[in-house]
Amino acid sequence: MLNGLTKYLESDKEKQALIDDLINPKVVFYEKALKSEMRYSEASYDLREMDTPARLLSLTKFCPKCQRRYPEEENACYDCLVTLKHVSDKVPVHDIESRPTFEFDGKTIYDDFQGILTEENITKINDFDFKSADFKHIINNLKRTSLENLDEVIEKNYVDMDELTTLESVLLFAKTFVNVDYKSYGQELGYFEFGTITIDDRQSDSFQITTLIHELAHFLLKEILVGVLCDLLDCKSSSLVDVIVTYILSYSNFTRLIDEYSAHCCEGRFTVYGYQDYSSFLQIIAQMDGEMSKEEIEITKSIGNTFANSIKDILEIFIDHELLRQIKREFLMYHHEKPNYEMLKLENCEKLTEEGFLKAIWLVVSDGFIVASENMDKLEEYLKEVKQ
Ligand SMILES: [Zn+2]
Ligand SMILES: [Zn+2]
Repeated sequence: MLNGLTKYLESDKEKQALIDDLINPKVVFYEKALKSEMRYSEASYDLREMDTPARLLSLTKFCPKCQRRYPEEENACYDCLVTLKHVSDKVPVHDIESRPTFEFDGKTIYDDFQGILTEENITKINDFDFKSADFKHIINNLKRTSLENLDEVIEKNYVDMDELTTLESVLLFAKTFVNVDYKSYGQELGYFEFGTITIDDRQSDSFQITTLIHELAHFLLKEILVGVLCDLLDCKSSSLVDVIVTYILSYSNFTRLIDEYSAHCCEGRFTVYGYQDYSSFLQIIAQMDGEMSKEEIEITKSIGNTFANSIKDILEIFIDHELLRQIKREFLMYHHEKPNYEMLKLENCEKLTEEGFLKAIWLVVSDGFIVASENMDKLEEYLKEVKQ
């Protein structure tokens, strides 16, 4: 079944170019350029710092609209015609609470798993009345909602985008998608589970940024598939659909590899390929113990890479060229070693054509939906965790 997808593979030229650039000596200049630029910008930052603190300290108020700073005795910004706020009213991005919701609309609202996992719905999913335009609609829906969420978060917490560090910018964008929590124990850098990303905020900014992007990719893949199921079943998104997709993405090594490889690819595209930790998806492959052939593993990685391209498309509404440069700079400050060329060989630079991608999505959801219908007790367990 999986091997049938081979004929829909094409080269992912953009990813190939990024990796070629790393192996190619050109990268030395690129890195050097980035590093000297870094020193330059650090120096200019120091200069800026020298003449501002005293001035800034005396400006204890700000305009919530244009963000201009004012001294304590002022009460309004006459350009924007609003009253001023106190600087202490600003919430640091780290502490901003957001509970963003993403919704997909449909005629039916399901109340329980018995109602949704029916023979009739299995047939509907298997018939797969789903086109590329439907997929684009889902991606646009996610983009629109997160932009609305961003507006709301900025307005509610008086965020001045120009004041944010690179980590704070990425963290703020992450919070427009999903709830972010912190932990200060254990080895894991972070994880995404039941609607929340948890990161270790004791880690360097660079590690927190890569972890956030990696976990956001997990969240977005789940959300994309929620959109696909809601479209196929013409139903409203709910925690039930959420749980079914979470189950689909974790019940088999095939879907776990897609999920993990897709997150890995997103991380690589927004940081630098070849410096990452490859253990997450190598672990899955090691567990397989001959379950899949080498070719099947490569096709599965191509499916993950194709999903990663759509996720990257969503993240690019926030992570523009300038922020991407900042992220890479932050990253190279911590990684002075050469990229791991051995590991780079594990990268798959192929993606599926539109037609092949639709077939892959069909394979993931139709098989997964059937297995989910046979494991409702497991789904009920997940549901309890979501509702906690
Ligand atoms: Zn103003
Ligand atoms: Zn992961």
